[in-house]
Amino acid sequence: MLILSVFALDKTGNISYNIIIFLIRRFVFIMSLKVLKFGGSSLADAEHFRQVAEIVKSDPARRYVVASAPGKRFSNDTKVTDLLYKCYELAYNEEDITDVFEEIKQRYNDIIADLGIELDLSEVFEKIRLSLLHSTGRDYIASRGEYLNAMVLAKYLGFSFFDAKKAVFFNEDGSFNAERTNDAMREALSHMEYAVIPGFYGSMPNGTIKTFSRGGSDITGSIVARAVSATIYENWTDVSGFLMADPRIIDNPAPIKTITYKELRELSYMGATVLHEDAIFPVRYSKIPINIRNTNRPEDNGTFIVPETDDIGEHVITGIAGRTGFSSITIEKAMMNAELGLGRKVLQVLEENGVSFEHFPSGIDTMTVIVSTRALQEKRADILAGICKNVNPENVFVEENIALLAVVGRGMVKAKGTAARIFMSLANAGVNIRMIDQGSSELNIIIGVDANDYVTALGAIYNEFVK
Ligand code: ADP
Ligand code: ASP
Ligand code: MG
Repeated sequence: MLILSVFALDKTGNISYNIIIFLIRRFVFIMSLKVLKFGGSSLADAEHFRQVAEIVKSDPARRYVVASAPGKRFSNDTKVTDLLYKCYELAYNEEDITDVFEEIKQRYNDIIADLGIELDLSEVFEKIRLSLLHSTGRDYIASRGEYLNAMVLAKYLGFSFFDAKKAVFFNEDGSFNAERTNDAMREALSHMEYAVIPGFYGSMPNGTIKTFSRGGSDITGSIVARAVSATIYENWTDVSGFLMADPRIIDNPAPIKTITYKELRELSYMGATVLHEDAIFPVRYSKIPINIRNTNRPEDNGTFIVPETDDIGEHVITGIAGRTGFSSITIEKAMMNAELGLGRKVLQVLEENGVSFEHFPSGIDTMTVIVSTRALQEKRADILAGICKNVNPENVFVEENIALLAVVGRGMVKAKGTAARIFMSLANAGVNIRMIDQGSSELNIIIGVDANDYVTALGAIYNEFVK
């Protein structure tokens, strides 16, 4: 249409002027290209769909939208993804799925009815129901949450619907195929000016559906942003950006204005679940910034996640995150430090048992390996026996119930006394430190505490640096 109008205007004799205007418009259109991902809470009901549409329509550069499945509408509500997993379990155990399946259908039908759009999903629902009864894969069933929601959103926005299975690819071993995905996504979206893409899943080489891990729609958003060379990847959620600590533990934590990719990975890996820790990888290739925004407060600037920045930020630390559910394996042996290859032998036992380690602090006669308690559970006896056989220690024991806290900040490398402040604040709060590990880049300090002290420890460190 734009091309036609250029030629129509040509007849006025103003050829070069109009062509230039057309090219400038086109240039601006291409130069500013935004990819948006809306999380489950932002697409939980019709009211939120309206807010989403307002955000998308307020800026023509907002062209590609990645949708999650409907999330919780209130605190004890159930996410559609969890309902789908539940349905799968019921079907798998040959129990009746009717009630849960009806609940899922109702979620979508309520949204459709309230928005007043013409969309009949009954055939799609029937296909999913039959798949459940014919034991189709668990991932396929879980992925239908985003598939259906993206269809509803595309219809409501008047955008094209593009199924992620056609351009998000996994390898035979289940790993993500970044290059094949990028080529296919770029090619497909080059034919669509405005599109909605379901998050969370893609396809295996044989065409079956595979999902990312939970929260994986964030990764799809990043994949799309890379493929279309977006100027920014806006990740819309229910908080006004990345906060310095988990808002479910610290009351009204301070927001983070700017955070680097590396800091974000440290924090999200350690439990700051606002963005999936792997969502950084696709955008990292083209250094596309991510902006975390609040769907319920679009006027807030949110947090910018950038490749690098000279801005140190308001506080010495950027944020704190933590998780419970860790165990330590401590190995004691005199003169351990002089024994060549001992560390390797210990880690080899873990590797042979398929358990990865989180941290590996060591002393002159002791060595501690921190692992996930859940991963250790089944392999515990084999691992302890393997360590005894491989390194012949004087003593080896496991302690459970450990929480890890990550204090992260690009400013820590330049600020003196940060570790001392952390330890003093914990001592003053009566928290016993069980382990300390500082990353060599001085970007983070990891502290192990008793899981019962986790909340107190988080509060103490937060108050020391922020209040
Ligand atoms: P979405 O459904 O939009 O993907 P998520 O539930 O995955 O949203 O992530 C947002 C939630 O992450 C927030 O509601 C908040 O409870 C939690 N959260 C945990 N740590 C942080 C943090 N440091 N900053 C902000 N939110 C956090
Ligand atoms: N719906 C999926 C989940 O609940 C993916 C996502 O929300 O990002 O994990
Ligand atoms: Mg999420």
